[in-house]
Amino acid sequence: MIKELHEKLVNREISSEELVKNSLIEIENKNGEFGAFLKVFKESAIKNAKKVDEKIARGEKIGMLEGIPYAIKDNICVQDKITTSASKIIEKYEAPYNATVVKKIKKAGAVFVGKTNMDEFAMGSSTENSAFQKTKNPFDVDRVPGGSSGGSAVAVASDMVSWALGSDTGGSIRQPAAFCGIVGLKPTYGRVSRYGLMAMASSYDQIGPFAKTVEDAAIVLDAISGKDIHDNTTVQKGRDSFYENLKPNLKGKKIGIMPSLFEEGLDGKIKKNIEERIEWAKGQGAEIIQIDIPHIKNTLAVYYLMVMSEVSSNFAKYDGIKFGLSEANLENSKSKNILDVYLNSRELGFGPEVKRRIILGTHALSAGYSDAYYKKAQKVRELIKHEFKKVFDQVDVILTPTTPTLPFKFGEKSDNPLEMYLADIYTVPVNVAMLPGISIPAGMAEENGVQLPVGMQLISKWWDEQNLLDISAGFEKFE
Ligand code: GLN
Repeated sequence: MIKELHEKLVNREISSEELVKNSLIEIENKNGEFGAFLKVFKESAIKNAKKVDEKIARGEKIGMLEGIPYAIKDNICVQDKITTSASKIIEKYEAPYNATVVKKIKKAGAVFVGKTNMDEFAMGSSTENSAFQKTKNPFDVDRVPGGSSGGSAVAVASDMVSWALGSDTGGSIRQPAAFCGIVGLKPTYGRVSRYGLMAMASSYDQIGPFAKTVEDAAIVLDAISGKDIHDNTTVQKGRDSFYENLKPNLKGKKIGIMPSLFEEGLDGKIKKNIEERIEWAKGQGAEIIQIDIPHIKNTLAVYYLMVMSEVSSNFAKYDGIKFGLSEANLENSKSKNILDVYLNSRELGFGPEVKRRIILGTHALSAGYSDAYYKKAQKVRELIKHEFKKVFDQVDVILTPTTPTLPFKFGEKSDNPLEMYLADIYTVPVNVAMLPGISIPAGMAEENGVQLPVGMQLISKWWDEQNLLDISAGFEKFE
């Protein structure tokens, strides 16, 4: 837990160097099997830890995150470090600048340890789409860790680092957090700058933390949020600290439940764990209110249509010339003209899921179709936002499962994209409506003799992360 580590550092019971070295030992011991990290930066991590130790030795005050090791998903730019988004097309891309979140965390003094594996360009729900390696679920290595930020989730869940950053376009923080038994927070769209995050779908992407506790997530959120001149969708909302104001509480809180989300398609074991928590929350003084968001049934369609469209537009820049891999530079190049260079570089550089989305998105945006598809989807998106807004006049948070199933096996869904997309049913509405959402652990469930983690999702209204965190911390006390 970050606060405990911080106190130990301040009281000189442990040094930052020791913390970082412990983290490096965990990585050394576990990464071979779990495949969470793509790259680890040992020397710079130890060097930075020593600087924090010197500061402590001089009697200077240190911040909450200072001296504590953390990891970053490989679609977030760290200056002079390779940033691949787990794609062959930019396998050798060295980021020329720091993402705003990285700049902020650097200022906060946390120690960057390494870059984590992910689905290529964050497209996927299992991390199986990485061009480089498999990442395994620490609870059962035959199962996926979730995705797309699978590496960050596993790094935290298996104690390789105390916390990590991920990105969430349709669930990529919350779903792997659920599959790995930790906390994952997707802030309100605009809370955290996307500058330096390799764009997937610009009106959906948001950076957020993975952590062991709600309190830790609040500490990280404090460090990364705020207005940024490099991302004009960011807003400064309040100046207070989520961490300092955190009050675990369920008493008097109104919790919305949508019954149809607990019916068809939901694993009975997940349902049972969540229902137990709902009952317990009542005993803690929470009020359970039945809600309805009729157009929620259209969210997957809206999401995948819009995301693929935005992908096709954002990905035009990977043309074999501006960035990364260029087929024209290969010894056995077949390219005879500029069009060949585009086609051959993209053919070689992108994996099948990225290609699928570019093709579908290009179709959806093509002349004569974009009004019928993208524009229509935008209208339905507004309708869904409006329905959420009405519900939040009545309740503080909405409670749902994070995933319909327990962590699935490798290969179980990878041949069937539609089935993979359907697994995002609970997380996607949050991004469609640009709301904040969190997944917190909701106990364990058994499948074929293996104990696997269950995740529970809470959603609050826009900019109401404080309430969301307070209620989530209230649920952490479940017994
Ligand atoms: N699984 C979703 C998708 O494939 C979400 C991805 C994400 O949040 N980056 O689009």
